[in-house]
Amino acid sequence: MTAMEQYPHDLIRFLSASPTAFHATAYTGSLLANRAFVRLYEQDDWGELGPGSYYVVRNDSSLVAFTLANGAAKCRALRMAGAHTDSPGLKVKPNAVHSTSGLVQLGVEIYGGALLAPWFDRDLSLAGRVLWRSSEGQVQAHLLDFCRPLLVVPSLAIHLDPEANKQRSINRQTDLVPILALDNMGHGEAFNFGALLLEQLGKQYGEHVDDAELLDFDLFLYDLQPPGLLGLHNEFICSARLDNLLSCHALVQALCETGQVGQTAQEKGRDILVVLNDHEEVGSASAAGAQGTFLKDVLARLFSPRQRQQIVSRSLFVSVDNAHALHPNFSGKYEPEHAPRMHGGPVIKMNANQRYASSGVSAAQFMLVCRQAQVPCQKFVMRNDLACGSTIGPLTATALGVATVDVGVPQLAMHSVRETAAWRDGYYLLKALKTFFAADDEQLAFPSARA
Ligand SMILES: [Zn+2]
Repeated sequence: MTAMEQYPHDLIRFLSASPTAFHATAYTGSLLANRAFVRLYEQDDWGELGPGSYYVVRNDSSLVAFTLANGAAKCRALRMAGAHTDSPGLKVKPNAVHSTSGLVQLGVEIYGGALLAPWFDRDLSLAGRVLWRSSEGQVQAHLLDFCRPLLVVPSLAIHLDPEANKQRSINRQTDLVPILALDNMGHGEAFNFGALLLEQLGKQYGEHVDDAELLDFDLFLYDLQPPGLLGLHNEFICSARLDNLLSCHALVQALCETGQVGQTAQEKGRDILVVLNDHEEVGSASAAGAQGTFLKDVLARLFSPRQRQQIVSRSLFVSVDNAHALHPNFSGKYEPEHAPRMHGGPVIKMNANQRYASSGVSAAQFMLVCRQAQVPCQKFVMRNDLACGSTIGPLTATALGVATVDVGVPQLAMHSVRETAAWRDGYYLLKALKTFFAADDEQLAFPSARA
């Protein structure tokens, strides 16, 4: 199998292992650890880091990984890239259980800008993080994943809403409460959600959680339909969370293939940094989000202020987040000259009002990277009569002062529970990122304009 043929299968494995941002972060950590990346902890003193590959995690949902080919002191420029680990969806409320109409339901909050209609009539499961305390008083966190059909949000039958196909709207509070069980299955006892979580904890982690007392949880619903290839030539990939786990996967894969010290990075003296941030879909303002201090704090620990500023001024940050591919049924929603085509390669996103951080300079740098990687690329601009989205690029550029380009693979149905992309675009992105990570310092340095 060629590297290109292998690519969609690796991506599918990454998507399947990552029903939540917590799982995406844990899986990424395991991939990096397999490649001899050393895990650092924010509460420890790192000293001065020598040559090596490292990663650090915050909130179990954000991660910074980096390779210092010759140690921190000798770093001159960083090939930096980032993406986000979270996706819009349904998050279980703290006091979730409703028992009405003979059914047990779980109240959910809507996380981010989810497209809500696709959540109806799906086989849903539950995954996330639970906090618990042992009988000795020790507090621990574990990831849970029920991995089985557990919940459903049924549609209202068309007979009860004859206008459904013309004007059905969705009430965010009342229409989306998933059903978990028949109420009378508990033999007279009230349903206990905490007991269900502890039972699952025991199933996944065995007897050492026997005495666990549940403290709290961060749990999300997810669609159980596995990611898959589709189309006459299997050219499409369909999955939940392509936005933005496709990008996380490409970054991690590119880092694993080029950033392992002892291989290419050290031979060539390449310093590389990848950041995966949680909370992009809710505005990034959190300790783990791109508006938080995570990346800044990591850089502050690696380099003195003076060295850091010099490094940042010689570096490029590639912010990777999926773009809107041209939808054939809605072509009027696109800027006619800037409508990204599937299989047209990574998209460079531009916005005059800085909703995307790309400039003529950073876009030119990325175009040269794509040319060198022998992959196509294209440009996106939002229509002037529609609001432009944003991503971690402008936030990171603002926080660090680093030259930034916003790019991403074109996809359809963004923020649906089932999204579609042409997987070769992901492979092109991976090739471009590997080329970028292997670039020499001179390639990153663009001259200032002459008057
Ligand atoms: Zn996104």
